[in-house]
Amino acid sequence: MIAFANPSLKIKKYKKEIIRAVNRTLETNSYILGPEVKKFEKNFSKYIGTKYSVGVANGTDAIEISLRSLNIGIGDEVITVSHTAVASVSAIISAGAKPVLVDIENEYLQIDISKVAKAITNKTKAVLAVHLYGQSVELDGLKKICKDKKILLIEDVSQAHGAKYKEKKLGSHGIIGCFSCYPTKNLGALGDAGIITTNNKKIYKKMKLLREYGWKTKFYSEIHGRNSRIDEIQAAILNIKIKYLDKENKNREDIASLYKNFLDKKKFTIVKNRQNSSHVYHLFVVKVKKRKKLLDYLKKKKIATGIHYPYPVHLQKGYKKLIKTNGALSITEKNCKNIISLPIYPELKKKTVIKIIQNLNNFN
Ligand SMILES: *Cc1c(COP(=O)(O)O)cnc(C)c1O
Repeated sequence: MIAFANPSLKIKKYKKEIIRAVNRTLETNSYILGPEVKKFEKNFSKYIGTKYSVGVANGTDAIEISLRSLNIGIGDEVITVSHTAVASVSAIISAGAKPVLVDIENEYLQIDISKVAKAITNKTKAVLAVHLYGQSVELDGLKKICKDKKILLIEDVSQAHGAKYKEKKLGSHGIIGCFSCYPTKNLGALGDAGIITTNNKKIYKKMKLLREYGWKTKFYSEIHGRNSRIDEIQAAILNIKIKYLDKENKNREDIASLYKNFLDKKKFTIVKNRQNSSHVYHLFVVKVKKRKKLLDYLKKKKIATGIHYPYPVHLQKGYKKLIKTNGALSITEKNCKNIISLPIYPELKKKTVIKIIQNLNNFN
């Protein structure tokens, strides 16, 4: 079987280094928010190019805490997409705000900024821009809309660690950048973890209070906070993994080039690369006409695939009453029926990719 994602191969690659770091951590008597977390926050800020980073428990919390740090909550609206991980939307609701979901671009499957402009009301406080699949949204246009309408730009970078827009890393363009370090993400821990980036000192300080009961000093809450801490073992592992992130992203890019060069374009429409943006290929997504048939065929060929995402958030039972849509989401609804994600991860061998491509091209 060719796996769709395989984090255990990565663990194997770095196992010695990881075990050494875990052993070192076990002896420190500090297991949560200790020196490894501080080091990871420093490493991550340096990598992204922001002044500050705050480690949190996961990517969903990163978004909720970001919104709360900006005083966005009850009565406020946050614009984002329905074509995303449900986490993007669920976090907005957890912060108390109303998600306003808009349609996407047909070529890139990302937020359509012309739809953002139309969705802005006097309740709109922010846009959560999801850099889906590994590349940037149309940032220049979106920044201009945000500036003109005086609303904040928050980036959901959970699928694009290391990608750039015009030479600047994603997560350093908006007021805040939110990242998940779930095991299969480009920068993944061996459990749950997340991190937030910002250049604003006041926001940074507030996020640190929010992640731990509102404490500035122990046992006294300055504000109503959360428990969303990151532990030392995950941070120690991430301090190792971040050293190899660029190399691993390059491997993903090489695999993507094979798909782009050799897939039969008559059968598969590849999601386009945006100009001015590098792509770190968290996912490699193509559109197909006969998806059900293709999925059955690939199953027989023992090639695992994914669908990101099969159900738009606005059509899911758990969320449809909690969100608002603006305009028809027809591009979202159309594409969720024809997309498939092909295997892509740094350890996937070139030989295997060629085999996948041959099988795909033989599909009728
Ligand atoms: C993974 C992901 C999240 C959520 O991260 P968790 O760590 O699972 O909470 C949020 N947004 C996007 C776009 C994601 O891919």
